Amino acid sequence: MNDPPTNIRAHQSQQMLEIDWPDGRVDRLGYLGLRGSCPCAGCRDEWTGEPLLDRSSIPLDLKLVGMENIGTYAVKFAWTDGHSSGLFSWETLRRLGDESLAPPKG
Ligand SMILES: [Zn+2]
Repeated sequence: MNDPPTNIRAHQSQQMLEIDWPDGRVDRLGYLGLRGSCPCAGCRDEWTGEPLLDRSSIPLDLKLVGMENIGTYAVKFAWTDGHSSGLFSWETLRRLGDESLAPPKG
C-alpha cells in the first residue's frame, strides 16, 4: 500500500499531471497516457486486463475537468472527452510513474 501523494498539480497547457510522493519522488504523467491507461471496466477488461479503449479515439487536446479524492487510496479523474469513471489508486499512479521513468524499449 502506497502512501498518498503529498500534492497533485494539473498543468493544463502542458496536458501533464505532476505528482509529489512522500518519498520525494515526483512523477510527471501526460494526460493522454493517463487517459489511455484508464483502469475502469469500460476501458479495460476486468479479467484479462486487456485494453478495450481505442487510444486513437482520445482527443489530442484532452484536458482535465475534475479530480476527486476517493477515500485515502485513489483519485478519480474527469476528462473533457466526457469520461469520468476511471479510478486511479496510488499503486496505479506509481506504476505509471515507474513506466514513465523506465528507459524506452528497443
Ligand atoms: Zn475508463
